[in-house]
Amino acid sequence: MNDPLHTAPGARIIDGKALSDAVRGSLRARIAASGRRVRLDAILVGDDRAAGIYAMNQAKTCEEVGIEYVLHRLPAGATYDDIAGRVLLLNSEDGVRALMLHLPLPAGIDAERIQSLISPEKDVEGVNPANIGNVVYGRRSLVPCTALASLEMIESTGIELRGKRCAVIGASNIVGKPIAVLLMREEATVHSTNKFTPALPELARECDVIVAACGVPRLVKRDWVKPGAVVIDVGINRIDGPDGKKITVGDVDFESVRSVAGWISPVPGGVGPMTVAMLLRNVVEAALR
Ligand code: NAD
Repeated sequence: MNDPLHTAPGARIIDGKALSDAVRGSLRARIAASGRRVRLDAILVGDDRAAGIYAMNQAKTCEEVGIEYVLHRLPAGATYDDIAGRVLLLNSEDGVRALMLHLPLPAGIDAERIQSLISPEKDVEGVNPANIGNVVYGRRSLVPCTALASLEMIESTGIELRGKRCAVIGASNIVGKPIAVLLMREEATVHSTNKFTPALPELARECDVIVAACGVPRLVKRDWVKPGAVVIDVGINRIDGPDGKKITVGDVDFESVRSVAGWISPVPGGVGPMTVAMLLRNVVEAALR
């Protein structure tokens, strides 16, 4: 392979792009074999440029695997009642089986309150608290996509999680906490950590798995990592590069950590593409259930 990521010595790379392509391929086959229509309905409020581009890309990604994409646009002046009303309407439609809400919402509208209105069985982003509760209880449910992506990537290394120590760095409701719970479900011993955790580098260094999801560029350094550990980098941070241009980096100092870790996921090309694949998988699960 020509990719320097795959030829340099040190940790093996967990290639999120390749894993994601494999998932998409199997979803495409599953949809075709089902003989059924699979559709994702998404709500986009206002004219935030990044959200609009994301929705366009999403439409393309869905099309590639055979998922129909229906975008419901609401104007920037939409009120809480307008958005909630649309969610409730789509909840009630039988033809809508997979539903998500693009963020951001207009200022002053509580996104979590709207998300909690999405029917749990249609909530493909796993943002309704009922779905998080189901994750805790180990019930079949739609799991938040980034958490699912992180677990799949860890499992792709072949590591047996039972009995292993894991550090999850960052404990947000939508990323860090669900990852910690998924690892607990595998009977790993899980340290859920946050910005107030004392002696975090020492704690991380005792762990077989580190998942970094804190939003601090390159926080996890070489001396935080036990030799051979699996390191998953969830972070997506835009920082100034050496030539002043913006670059995307993770929460792990990739260059130093790769020399000690056993496995490492890069940014970009790691958890990001796999998160998209997990959303598609949730859509297919919701639609074909
Ligand atoms: P957040 O700001 O909601 O939460 C950050 C968490 O990290 C908090 O629990 C905080 O206490 C903890 N934290 C902050 N500084 C810390 C420090 N120095 N040491 C230890 N813990 C610290 O962020 P989030 O929404 O959970 O996102 C985390 C990162 O993941 C961001 O970089 C975000 O861009 C990225 N992200 C990636 C994806 C993906 O698909 N790859 C999806 C969502 C978020």
